[in-house]
Amino acid sequence: MLQAMAEDDRRDATGGCLCGAVRFRIAFPTKWCAHCHCSMCRRAHGAAFVTFCGVPASQFTIERGADDLVRYDSSPQAWRRFCRKCGSTLTFEGERWADEVHVVLANVDDPIDRVPQAHCYFDGRVPWVEIADALPKLGGPSGNEPL
Ligand SMILES: [Zn+2]
Ligand SMILES: [Zn+2]
Repeated sequence: MLQAMAEDDRRDATGGCLCGAVRFRIAFPTKWCAHCHCSMCRRAHGAAFVTFCGVPASQFTIERGADDLVRYDSSPQAWRRFCRKCGSTLTFEGERWADEVHVVLANVDDPIDRVPQAHCYFDGRVPWVEIADALPKLGGPSGNEPL
C-alpha cells in the first residue's frame, strides 16, 4: 500500500539505452501508451512488437549522451533515435505527431503513469506470438482504426 502510494506520487521516470551512454527523463503525465506491431518497428527493434508511451516533446529530456544519440530517418516523415554505441532504439518521432516523442517503454527504468491501452497496426502482427489480452486491436491504413 505504501509502495503504491509512493508510485502514484512520482512525477517522472528515467530511462536509457543498454550501455548506459544515453540517459533520458520523461515528465508525467504521459499522453498514451500502446503496442505497435508495424513492420518498421519490428525491424528497428528486432522484436515481435514495440511498446511506446507518447509524451509532449517538452516533457522529454536527454540527460546524458546526447552526442551518442543518432537519428535514423525510417521514412520521409518519421525518424528514430538510437545509441550509436549499443544500438538501443530509444524514440520514434514524426510529422504526423508533431511536438510529441514516442518513447520506447522497455527502455524506461520503472513503471510509468499508465499501462498499455491498445494494439496498433495489429493486422500487421507476426503470426508467431499469440496476443490474448483484452486490449483494443487497431489497424488499417493509419494503424489506429478499429478492426
Ligand atoms: Zn547505448
Ligand atoms: Zn510501429
